[in-house]
Amino acid sequence: MKLGLIGKTLTHSWSQWWFEQLFRRDGIADAEYRLYPMPSLDGLRDWALREGLSGFNVTIPYKEAIIPLLDRLDDEAQTIGAVNCVAVQDGQLVGYNTDSQAFRETLQLLMQPCHTHALVLGTGGASRAVGHALSQLGIAATFVSRTPDGKPSTVGYTEAEGLMATHLLVVNATPVGMYPDKDATPWQRADLWTPRHLCYDLIYNPSPTRLLQEAADHGASTRDGLPMLFRQAELSWKRFSTQ
Ligand code: NAP
Repeated sequence: MKLGLIGKTLTHSWSQWWFEQLFRRDGIADAEYRLYPMPSLDGLRDWALREGLSGFNVTIPYKEAIIPLLDRLDDEAQTIGAVNCVAVQDGQLVGYNTDSQAFRETLQLLMQPCHTHALVLGTGGASRAVGHALSQLGIAATFVSRTPDGKPSTVGYTEAEGLMATHLLVVNATPVGMYPDKDATPWQRADLWTPRHLCYDLIYNPSPTRLLQEAADHGASTRDGLPMLFRQAELSWKRFSTQ
C-alpha cells in the first residue's frame, strides 16, 4: 500500500516517521508513506493514480484548495470546508477531515469550565477544523486574521488583544513559529497571558514554539500540536486501511 503527504514544503513534517510507527505496530510490512512536496496542485488526479497511491494526507497550504479537485467529500469535511485526508477508492478521490476530531479529542483532555470563549489565530484550513471542533464542544470562537474584513466572526490582531481577558483559550492555527522560522510568533502581546489561559499551538516542530514558551512564562497552561498530529494520522490510517 502506497501512502503519502502532499504540501508545498514538508521539511517540518514528522508524518512519515509516525506512519512508519503505525505500520510497525500493526505488523504491516508492505506499506510505505512518503513526503511529496508540490509547488501546486496542477495534475493532482493524474499524479495520484499514476503513483498508485491508496491515499494521502494534505497539509499547508492545500487543505481548502484541494476540494474542487476531489470526486466526493464526506459530510464532515463538507461542513468544515477543509480536507486533510484523501482516500483513493476505485479511481476516485474522496476527501475527509481527521484534523477536527483529533483537535477536539486532544483539547477535551485539557479543558476547564472557564474555557467558554476562544481566539483562533489564522483563517486557513486548520482554523476551519478547529472552529468546527470548538462549536461541537460549545465553545464560542472568534477568529483572528491579518485581513479580517468581510470574514464572519473574525477580528484583527489589535481587536483580539482587547478580548484576551475574556477569551481564556487561544489556539494558534497559523504556521507562524514553525520550523525553520522558530523565532517568529503570531501573537505580539506576551504580557496578556495569565495563569487562567490555555494556549494550544497546532505546531509541533519546534516544541515549545516561541508562542508556547511566552505563554508558559506567564503561567498559562500549554499544549503543542504533537498529540493532534498523532491522532489525525491514526484516524487517517484507519480510513486508508479499511477501504
Ligand atoms: P494555511 O491554510 O496556510 O493557513 C494558515 C492561516 O494562517 C492563513 O490562512 C493566515 O490567516 C494565517 N497566516 C499565514 N501566514 C501568516 C503570517 N505570516 N502571519 C500571520 N498569519 C499568517 O495553513 P493550515 O493548513 O491552516 O495550517 C496552519 C498550521 O497548523 C501549520 O503550522 C500546520 O502545520 C499546523 N497544523 C498542525 C496539525 C497537527 O496535527 N498538529 C494539523 C493541521 C495543521 P489570515 O490570512 O486570516 O491571517
